[in-house]
Amino acid sequence: MTSTTAGPGTGTDDRRTAEPTDNPLLESVGLPRFDAIRPEHVEPAVRHVLAAQRAAIAEAEAVDAPDVGWLENLERVHDAIGRVWGPIAHLNAVASTPALRDAYNACLPLVTEFHTEVGQNRALYERFLRLDETLPAERRVERELVRQTLRDFRLGGVALEGEDRARYREVMQKLAALQATFEQNLMDATDAFEHHETRAEQLAGLPEETLERARAAAAEKGLDGWLLKLDPPTYLAVMTHARSEALRKLYYEAWTTRASDRGPSAGRWDNGPLITEILALRHESAKLLGFKNYAELSLATKMAGSVDEVIGFLRDLARRSKPYAERNLAELGEHAGRRLEPWDIAFYSERLREQRFALSDEELRRYFPLPKVLAGLFSLAENLFGIEIARKPAESVWHPSVEYYEVRRRGVVTGGFFTDLYARPQKRGGAWMDGCRDRARLSRLRQDPVAYLVCNFAPPTGDTPSLLTHGEVVTLFHEFGHGLHHLLTEVDYPSLAGINGVAWDAVELPSQFLENYAWRPEVLKTISGEYRTGEPLPDEKIEKLNGSRTFMEGLATVRQLEFALFDFLLHSRDAPPDLAGVYALLDDVRREVAVVKPPEYNRFPCTFSHIFGGGYAAGYYSYKWAEVLAADAFAAFEETGVLDAATAERFRREILAVGGSRPALDAFVAFRGREPDIDALLRQAGMVETAAA
Ligand SMILES: [Zn+2]
Repeated sequence: MTSTTAGPGTGTDDRRTAEPTDNPLLESVGLPRFDAIRPEHVEPAVRHVLAAQRAAIAEAEAVDAPDVGWLENLERVHDAIGRVWGPIAHLNAVASTPALRDAYNACLPLVTEFHTEVGQNRALYERFLRLDETLPAERRVERELVRQTLRDFRLGGVALEGEDRARYREVMQKLAALQATFEQNLMDATDAFEHHETRAEQLAGLPEETLERARAAAAEKGLDGWLLKLDPPTYLAVMTHARSEALRKLYYEAWTTRASDRGPSAGRWDNGPLITEILALRHESAKLLGFKNYAELSLATKMAGSVDEVIGFLRDLARRSKPYAERNLAELGEHAGRRLEPWDIAFYSERLREQRFALSDEELRRYFPLPKVLAGLFSLAENLFGIEIARKPAESVWHPSVEYYEVRRRGVVTGGFFTDLYARPQKRGGAWMDGCRDRARLSRLRQDPVAYLVCNFAPPTGDTPSLLTHGEVVTLFHEFGHGLHHLLTEVDYPSLAGINGVAWDAVELPSQFLENYAWRPEVLKTISGEYRTGEPLPDEKIEKLNGSRTFMEGLATVRQLEFALFDFLLHSRDAPPDLAGVYALLDDVRREVAVVKPPEYNRFPCTFSHIFGGGYAAGYYSYKWAEVLAADAFAAFEETGVLDAATAERFRREILAVGGSRPALDAFVAFRGREPDIDALLRQAGMVETAAA
């Protein structure tokens, strides 16, 4: 199913690093032999492939007039490393053992070092510049690959000279250390909190599993009663279910003052000073690279075109959803019979939801046996995108429950995917899609895309199949959407195939798009079947399910917009603010967007690890951005019929097939005939009448 005519070391002098024999990680044909890979294979294979690819890089550095063949050589370097490291990282996530984890951890720095070396390679950068000058315009895909590579070199500081280059490196190292400390402080402050309670009535309303954990924690310390911690599940359980307002208030204060100068551990792990240092260093890094501010730098790798565009987008969405948030809040207040405080919102919202849309997870589970859901999902994808999905015996898997499926289009095999859907020990939690092989059509490297689809559903027991909650059904659709992006790609260069090279505020488009189908009555009828009687989900349950989807959506939306606007404005200033400036900005944003006024002691920025601990700085807006893309793309289907073949073919051709080979906005416009519009998201969230009035 996967044809490969090149493997690790192709195009390099393999005599320099003798090929270790009998190492399954170094086999160059077919899919990884998961059941043959042992921890002792890891380090020799990694060292071998890195040495061979270092030699390939050295050869590339020596070429004076780089051409398309030169570009293909570098693509093979990345593929060769992925071929060895990919299965190791995958096994470490799904079938970890102490020995494998040790081997993985020992090799991770070697792989990181190699990527850093390549990313900082001035000679390669200069050759890419030459290639950029000589590549003809009609080589569209190659030009995009060169453009992205040059951009990443520049963002890594490679184009800087002398002192600036050294300073940039120093700034990046300091930032990495400060961000790690920010996260650590937050973790320490969270772990330090405990609430000991001996009166059962004070804990009324809490779910049994929360109480059980609290009882065990108390017993461990030789205490009576319950010891509640501040881990996210306990915090959420208290805010949503605790009948005691005093307990909710206590938890609200502890949660919103973590790692700050206020609250139960005031000053012990204060992130306040780190915030201003981080902002100052980010601003400096942006200036060194020639950007006006950090927000501009962040947008260099995103679909959004400009700082003003993002701010305008967030403000527009806020202006139109705020009346709904106000209406939600009034409704909750009426239900509670009093004015609500910030620690009351989640509690009363949950009570009202129970009253209106009472549908427990357990009640729904019976209708979603996994085999039925999978069959319905596959047939949906087959109908939409003209493919066939067929189960095949896999030659080698890492667990007996893993299955392999082949994908064909017009009778021709175009790829395949592994499913690993059940929770078990030694497997990381959560759900994800990852590439096992990227599509390639290069000289000496031809392969079809292969994906991993990993979830953590409850395994079948006895005669009972795995039964999914509706939330898990949505998760499965989400990951399968990523999978289709990976599998239906028609791009020949691995670096731009599937989800590779897609702007990261657009990469969730196919996944969130496919989620929509998991709510449609016509699809729910095909993916459900009571596991003993086969009865599909009744209409009345489908209605309740959809009612709960948009319940209190106004409040949820303005909360996300408050975070997103605060993050983006904070990083788009001409000069980095001091701590007083940070809080003044937050106050302004709240006045503009929020409907719930937090108390004076609230220190939300000290807990905002998305943006101060790492990846989402000047990027938090991406959540809403991708939701708009997905809702608007799905609206095209609603206009023509959600199973309309012509619309689906256009989605496949313009979005899924092109991967990162074309800018995300161009791809979207080619599909939709216009730029994205926020109306579709507002409609999907049930926020339309006031918006139109
Ligand atoms: Zn996703």
